[in-house]
Parts: sequence; C-alpha cells; structure tokens
Amino acid sequence: MRRARACAASPCNPVDLIPNPSDRQPIAPAAATDPCGLGCQPGRANVPVPVIGSASRETYLPMSQPSSSEFDLIRRYLTGLGAVRRDVLVDVGDDCALLHVPADRELAVSIDTLVAGVHFLPDCDPAALGHKALAVGLSDLAAVGAEPAWATLALTLPTSDEAWLAAFARGLGDLAAHEDVRLVGGDLTRGPLSLTVQVHGLVPRGHMLRRAGGQPGDLLCVSGALGDAGLALRHLQRGEPVDAYLRQRLERPTPRVALGEVLRGVASAAIDISDGLLADLGHLLAASGCGARVELTRLPLADQVAGVVAANGDWGLPLAAGDDYELCFTLPAAHARELPVLAAAAGCPLTPIGTLEAQPELCLVLADGQPWQPQRRGYDHFTDA
Ligand SMILES: [Mg+2]
Repeated sequence: MRRARACAASPCNPVDLIPNPSDRQPIAPAAATDPCGLGCQPGRANVPVPVIGSASRETYLPMSQPSSSEFDLIRRYLTGLGAVRRDVLVDVGDDCALLHVPADRELAVSIDTLVAGVHFLPDCDPAALGHKALAVGLSDLAAVGAEPAWATLALTLPTSDEAWLAAFARGLGDLAAHEDVRLVGGDLTRGPLSLTVQVHGLVPRGHMLRRAGGQPGDLLCVSGALGDAGLALRHLQRGEPVDAYLRQRLERPTPRVALGEVLRGVASAAIDISDGLLADLGHLLAASGCGARVELTRLPLADQVAGVVAANGDWGLPLAAGDDYELCFTLPAAHARELPVLAAAAGCPLTPIGTLEAQPELCLVLADGQPWQPQRRGYDHFTDA
C-alpha cells in the first residue's frame, strides 16, 4: 500500500476548473433579445465597452458569464481533491497550476477519456466511475515505472446532478489520496457524459520502463488475473447477477503502481493491459522486435473465468476482453528467479506465462502443445465500433 495522506480540505481559493470558452452559450443577435436597443441581453451582466470611432455613445456588449451554480459545483465538489503535496506550488485557484519537478526526475504524462456507453454503462455507480477515471491513467504511469503525482480532469455532464457529482468526486478523491495524487485543475462543461483525466508522474531520470527492450529468451509475465473485468461486463450486458469480486475488478480496478516502481531497472519491457493481453502484448512485441510463445494453461485465471474457459474452450475472455489494468512485462534470464521477491514487494501475484522468441510472431499453445488461434486480438475503438 502506498503512503496515503488524508484528503485535506483545500484552504486555497477556488477555482481553476473554469468553463472552456468554446462551450459558453453563443450570444444571440441583439435584435431578438435586446429590449433597450443598446445590445444588452436580459439576465446577463452587461458592461460598457467603448467603440472606436463612436465617442458620442457607449455600446453595451453582453458578457457571457458562466452561471454561479457551475462555480458552486466546482468549489463544492472538485476543489481540494487528493493528497496535499509540497511540489504543488500553485494549486487550484489560478489560471494554471504550478508544479515542481525535481532535477533528478523526468515527467511522465498520460491522458484517457471514458465515454458513457463506450467505456462504462450509463447507470454505473458514480463513485466507482470516479475511481476508474483516475485508475486507468495511473495504470499507464505504472506501466512506465512512474510515481503518480498530479492529475487534471475534464468533466462533461448532461445535468448538474449534485448527488452524482458528489459521489464521483468522492471516488476520484479517495483513490487520489491513496496514491498520493493531487487534482490540480481541469474543466467542467455540459454535454453527453464523458470524463477525461490526465495524469502526471515522476520517474528517475533515464529509468522509464518502455515497451521496447524485450529480448529473445526473456521471461514473459503478467500481474494479477486476466479476464475478470470482461466476464463482469458480459454478465451486466446480459442482465445476469455479478459477484462482488468481478464487479470490483470491472468498476474499481487497482492500478499496479507499486509493481511498476519495483520493475524499474529489472524488467526489460512493460505495458499495461487495458485492451486485452493479445493486443497489448502485440504492442510490446512490435516495439521490442520479438515474438513470443505463450502457454495458455499458465494464464492466471480466477475460478469464475477458468470456469467459462473450461465450459466452452474459448480463451478469448482472458486473452482479449480488456479492462484488466494488469501489467505485462519481460524479465531477462538473469532476473527470472527474482519473480517471487518482486511479487512480494509489489503486493500482487506475478505469473510467468511464456518466453520471448526471435521469430516475430505470437504463438499461443494449448496443454497438448497444439497452437490455438484467437478469433479476435483485443478491443479497438474503430474496428470494433
Ligand atoms: Mg497503456
């Protein structure tokens, strides 16, 4: 468990989470809304603006001000979320946050968007959604061995549902505090529900884990278990009951941050499994210029997933369903025997599932040594749409 600091209410002024100017309401033509003939719009603040060449008359231009309720929502629910960090020099409350990067560290940055109906079901628990919106970014930081530090949030909501927003903020803020992350700014707009979180992490100079770097003979490993989130989603889509373990794995994934940090200087390559093992392993192999042999019977599976595979012989669930947020990494032979020590340090199971090979192809092998051909390799937003 990472050092967790209490989420303290921020003493600073709100609000940097200002509306994007492009999202403000368009100004209506003066003729349709101007009761006094001076360009005013009822119900809006109007300020005099001198017009060049027209010294005899002040022309009033309507100011497009965000509603106070919008600022209230930001101040009430999205300010002061996460850990208090000394490297946040200017927090929420100015046009930009100001963040200190130590001289011996490099900045790792990643951004992810979650869209209702694509990445989550519209009736998803908002607290779980807040957790997941941050967790998917932290999983990317884990994959490169970075220590999470800061996050920014772009949130688009169809309505100002305060109960929803309070729960969402609680879910995001609890994970942020647990992982020593501060929410330092963002943007709030109205529209179809979507969440974008950018995460920023620190990695010792020159020690970022990369997808490239795997070599033939390296041990191929994964953390945790595969296919849990995919099975939970399958149950939900069919209207079937989902047990607590599977629901937790789908809705509140645990980013493997501690694992990423212990793999620095040990693993030859790493990636997080967000789109399914086959797709993400494929990215690692392409970057490393290698192939791999994976023994399917070695895949770490929870009993529920193993039961599905045993029933229909379809390995697609653990190989391609996605949303697992585990790490896939390679260990040079010299470090292969350290796997139990690494697992203990990371606080999660680590399983060897195969080896890298010089021939640039992925070979999936059944218990009897026969190859198995997948129907699909993973989720792709455009080919699977
Ligand atoms: Mg990733």
